[in-house]
Amino acid sequence: MSKKAIVIVIDGCAHEYLQQGVTTNINKLGERGFFKNVKSALPSVTNVNHATILTGSLPIEHQVTGNYFYNPETGEQGFIEGKGFLDKETILDAYTKEGKSTALLVVKGKVLQVFGDNVSFRLSVEHPDENLVRHLDMEMPPYVATPEANGWIMEACYNLIRKDNPDFIYCTTNDYTMHNYNPDHEVAKKQMESIDHWIGKIYELDPEREIYITADHGMTTKTTLIDLQKKMDHSSFDTVCMLPLKDRYLENHIYQEGCAVYVYAKNQKEKDAIYNHLKSYSFIESIYTREEAVDQLSLPGNRIGDFVVFGTKEVAFGELEDEELAVTVRTHGSKFEQDIPLIAVNARRDDFEYERNFDVIRFMLEDLKVNLVK
Ligand SMILES: [Zn+2]
Repeated sequence: MSKKAIVIVIDGCAHEYLQQGVTTNINKLGERGFFKNVKSALPSVTNVNHATILTGSLPIEHQVTGNYFYNPETGEQGFIEGKGFLDKETILDAYTKEGKSTALLVVKGKVLQVFGDNVSFRLSVEHPDENLVRHLDMEMPPYVATPEANGWIMEACYNLIRKDNPDFIYCTTNDYTMHNYNPDHEVAKKQMESIDHWIGKIYELDPEREIYITADHGMTTKTTLIDLQKKMDHSSFDTVCMLPLKDRYLENHIYQEGCAVYVYAKNQKEKDAIYNHLKSYSFIESIYTREEAVDQLSLPGNRIGDFVVFGTKEVAFGELEDEELAVTVRTHGSKFEQDIPLIAVNARRDDFEYERNFDVIRFMLEDLKVNLVK
C-alpha cells in the first residue's frame, strides 16, 4: 500500500514568490526533502498544465492546449470549462477506480468542471458545496479573485486531512495575486505566508504523507501588449489568432493578455506568406509551424493552428482597442514563464528524476500500474 499524497499547485508561483523570506515551512520541507527548478508544459497556461500534471503526460497525449478552443472546421469557439477536451485518464480517475479516496480542492470553479468527475471530495471557492464547507468546520469562502481565497482553500485541505484523510489530494489556488502583485508586494507576501502556514500545519498533521508543491506556470512583467489579430487583419491576412490563455477570469488579465498565440490560416494557400509576415515582427520571439510544435513542444497538431507564436520577454498578446498598448502587466504563456519550483518531502523517487511538473503524477501512475500487475 502506497503512502498518502498531496499535490499542491500554487497557481502562477514563479520562484520569486518563494524568495521573500515568508515561506519558511516550504523551505524547511525543501531541506528535509528537495527543492528544485522544473519546467511546465508550453504554452505555460493554467488548463494545459493542470491537464499535464494530473495525467502525468504532455499535451500531445492529453490533448488540452489552452483555456479556450477554436474549431477551424466549424468556426466554433469558446471557453474550455467542461469534460470532452481531456483525452487521458487523470490520477483522480485511476485512484478512484482502485477504490482509493481522492479530493480535488480548487479556487477556480472551472478546474472542478474539467477535472472533477471521479472524485470523492470536490470543493471550489467559486461554487462551494455548503455541506462540505460545514463538514470541514469552516465559514463560507471569500470571493474567488482575492488573495484570501487561496489561504482558505489551503485551510480546507488541512481540515479535510484532519477529518477524512483521503489517499490523494490535488489542491490548487488562483493566480489573481500573481497577476496583480509583484513578489515583494505586501499583498503577495501575505498570501504566500498564509499558504505556507497551512502547508506547515499539513506536514505537522501527517508527516508521513508525500507532499509535493509546484506550479502550473510562472509569471513575469510585460510592458507591451500586441493585438495580433488586429495586426494581421490590418495587413489583409485572413487568419484567426487565438489566445490560449483567454478565460473568464478578467480580474486576472483584463486584456486576455498572454504570451502565446495559435494562428490559423483561413486560406491554406496563404500559409507561406503568413509565416514570412509573422517572421517580420520584432515582438515575436519564436514561431513554430504545426509540425514543429508537435515535434518540439509535444503539442497535438489538431488543436493548435497552423502556427504557434510566442512573444519576446516583455511582450504579451491581448484583445485591445488598438493594435498596440504600452502598459505594465504581469502574465504568462511562453518559455519565459516555464521555470517553476518543485518542493517535495517523502517523494517516491530521487530528486534528479523530477524534471517536469508532471513527473510527480507520472511516477504515481507508473507505480499504480506495477502494483496492478503484481
Ligand atoms: Zn495559472
